[in-house]
Amino acid sequence: MRSPTPAEQYPFAGQQLPCYVAGEFVSSGQTFPNANPVNGRVIATVTEADAALVDRAVQAARAALRGPWARLTLQERCALLRKVADRIEQRFEEFLAAEIADSGKMLAQAKSLDIPRGAANFRSYADLALARASECYEMATPDGRGALNYTVHKPVGVVAAIAPWNFPFLLLTWKVAPALVCGNTVVAKPSEETPSSAVLLAQVMQEVGIPPGVFNLVHGFGPASTGEALVSHPDVAAIAFTGETATGAAIMRSAAPTVKALSFELGGKNAALVFADADFEAAVAGTMRSVFSNCGQVCLCSERVYIERPIFERFVEALAARARALKIGGPYEGADLGPLISRAHRDKVLSYYRLAREEGGEIVCGGGVPQLGDERDAGAFIEPTIVRGLREEARCVREEIFGPVCHVAPFDSEEEAVRRANDTRYGLCAAVWTSNLQRAHRVARQMEVGITWVNDWYLRDLRTPFGGAKLSGIGREGGMHSLGFFSEPMNICVKL
Ligand code: NAD
Repeated sequence: MRSPTPAEQYPFAGQQLPCYVAGEFVSSGQTFPNANPVNGRVIATVTEADAALVDRAVQAARAALRGPWARLTLQERCALLRKVADRIEQRFEEFLAAEIADSGKMLAQAKSLDIPRGAANFRSYADLALARASECYEMATPDGRGALNYTVHKPVGVVAAIAPWNFPFLLLTWKVAPALVCGNTVVAKPSEETPSSAVLLAQVMQEVGIPPGVFNLVHGFGPASTGEALVSHPDVAAIAFTGETATGAAIMRSAAPTVKALSFELGGKNAALVFADADFEAAVAGTMRSVFSNCGQVCLCSERVYIERPIFERFVEALAARARALKIGGPYEGADLGPLISRAHRDKVLSYYRLAREEGGEIVCGGGVPQLGDERDAGAFIEPTIVRGLREEARCVREEIFGPVCHVAPFDSEEEAVRRANDTRYGLCAAVWTSNLQRAHRVARQMEVGITWVNDWYLRDLRTPFGGAKLSGIGREGGMHSLGFFSEPMNICVKL
């Protein structure tokens, strides 16, 4: 078992994590503990923003809309965002250590994905904003002089950016960067489980000279806490939220009286379809990734794997052999599978493992808690699990579990595969594995989701639309779609 080196140590060990309001770090008021999911130890405390502090943050953001921030040109805002990206890279090791300590993520993943993508979000939205064109329509008028219509993009106002714990930094910056580049001001709320990288981001904002009030950070819980105070605040104009579908519904209710703009990226119950003509090895490897990445805690993970009958048994065997061989361990141990985010989440996932048995499923592999024989047994580790034999109506086939688990089932025809994949209230993404080009296009298009991958999974180009159909979300983020959400387009009609 390898522990973090001194350079990899959690930067806030034993400290109280502050909020950041109007350009100042605030540590007054109640606190809650921040635990490391590897061993359950409390590593820091977190300042919980009450309604009064949330109000101060929103008022600071509102005032900043009329301050120096409003006088910056788009080019100047973009230059500042690039400095944010540069500074994140300069402080890369601290971001890495903070993210890993909060979430228990594997070092290799956090190093190659979570933190680099956080920096990339600032650069790529700066690039996109500079490339955005403005619509222009010339029109005829009865007097023959004509008129010119052109669109200007104005900020929406104060944006609430609310992120979950599975990709804390990647998903928070995915909202903060486009909101800022469009000239808005932000009150960010990371998940109560993963507050640390957001504090580093606040430090970076201060260091590179983002004016006070433009970026504010509040910590706390959702219902009857910081989150609810933020989303019901009358001076918040727009909410960009990623999290559970049920939370999205609650936020909608809170936001309804003041009619806020909403962008929602919600839960999923994603299907992978593996056809008999697929490249077998690539499909097995890809499905392993799509089921077990980040310990199954990716909204895009496949929790339902449908496999064409001729290869079903062989595919399940290959998948189970690899799942059994996954090395479970802490972030610095070169393991494949880390802990879940918390004991509470592990209890939830374990309750689905039990339910799968009660619903008549057969556990092909896993199904329990590993014994690691040291302090990690106080952490939130769980076995990677494959289930077969459940009916389509089983709760384990219908509800998002959000752990390292999938249900495998055979299918006999393309039409059946498509029907079963779409037989869900969610609609985030799908993976289709086939070497038949015509089938690939035909099936991909029929998926009732926001994103279909063909012969891969989680391959992301930040310019593309990202989001879900049905219960998986409202609207699209990514590329120009994000710039659209975070801008108020205004038409100006000039008589010539
Ligand atoms: P969650 O909904 O419990 O919490 C997300 C955030 O919302 C947290 O910051 C939380 O404090 C806050 N929150 C909770 N209740 C609130 C309320 N009433 N008002 C305001 N804020 C509130 O989600 P989670 O458990 O942190 O994350 C896992 C979920 O996120 C899964 O369902 C997963 O599928 C989803 N997710 C979706 C995407 C996507 O892009 N579609 C990406 C990642 C995660």
